[in-house]
Amino acid sequence: MLKRSFLCVYPESFSLSYRLDKVKEIIVTDTINLSKRLATVATFLPSGAFFADIGSDHAYLPCYVCKHDKQARAIAGEVNEGPYNSACETVKAYELNNQIEVRLGDGLHVIDNEQIKQVVIAGMGGSLIAKILEEGRQYLSNVERIIAQPNIGEINVRKWFLENRFLLKEETIVEENGHLYEILVADKGENDLAYTDQELNKQLFFGPLLLQEKSSAFIKKWTLQKRKQQQIIAQIKLATVQDNEKIKQLEREFQWIEEVLLNEKRDC
Ligand code: SAM
Repeated sequence: MLKRSFLCVYPESFSLSYRLDKVKEIIVTDTINLSKRLATVATFLPSGAFFADIGSDHAYLPCYVCKHDKQARAIAGEVNEGPYNSACETVKAYELNNQIEVRLGDGLHVIDNEQIKQVVIAGMGGSLIAKILEEGRQYLSNVERIIAQPNIGEINVRKWFLENRFLLKEETIVEENGHLYEILVADKGENDLAYTDQELNKQLFFGPLLLQEKSSAFIKKWTLQKRKQQQIIAQIKLATVQDNEKIKQLEREFQWIEEVLLNEKRDC
């Protein structure tokens, strides 16, 4: 593989930790080795995408997409200075400044007046993703697709989509380095037919499309989660002050998990 070295010198205005190691070398390869998780996220972007990657960290995702698609353009948003600087370096190293703009700011507030068509928010908890979407709703008027990859608390993202007219189009689970990551893709639209009134809570919990498909990754995830849930319930019951509502909710979820796994065995 062809490798190129890129020498990066940091200006005085950068933070102390950055000035301490003023000269760093970034290895620039012709292909960007993206994690399987982010590479799967990338497959849900159309060609010629104009997207915002919120919480971009090193900006690997927008660099990967823009390197493979010269028509694609992106805003890489970061709230923290360290990752923001890393993102700037990656974009510069891959000579993608004409396609990617790195911006420092909270959530969707990095979007200016651009007609951003897709938003990616990956690698955070579901409640933070939902909070970012809620607090930046005004920036979503031109957005056609949101791709979310919550590490936990996926239900918060599904609820936000449902309440804000983003229809769940795809759900998938990616297994990488012993972790199981859910990726949720929603397009702007009206009635979400993925949900039914009778099963709504269960569908929000498991994901309506994942529940329907019951892939091997899904079964693996919920088999592991069943054990965890059992331990959590046992621990909560040991507390001196009992949270009965919480216990009831966890037990109801545990029952759903048991049912889903039991039905799976019957289907085999
Ligand atoms: N998206 C990348 C991925 O999936 O690999 C990076 C995930 S990293 C664990 C989460 C990143 O989100 C961090 O770099 C953090 O600084 C950033 N972040 C957290 N809250 C944010 C917010 N409100 N707005 C923008 N970025 C945020």
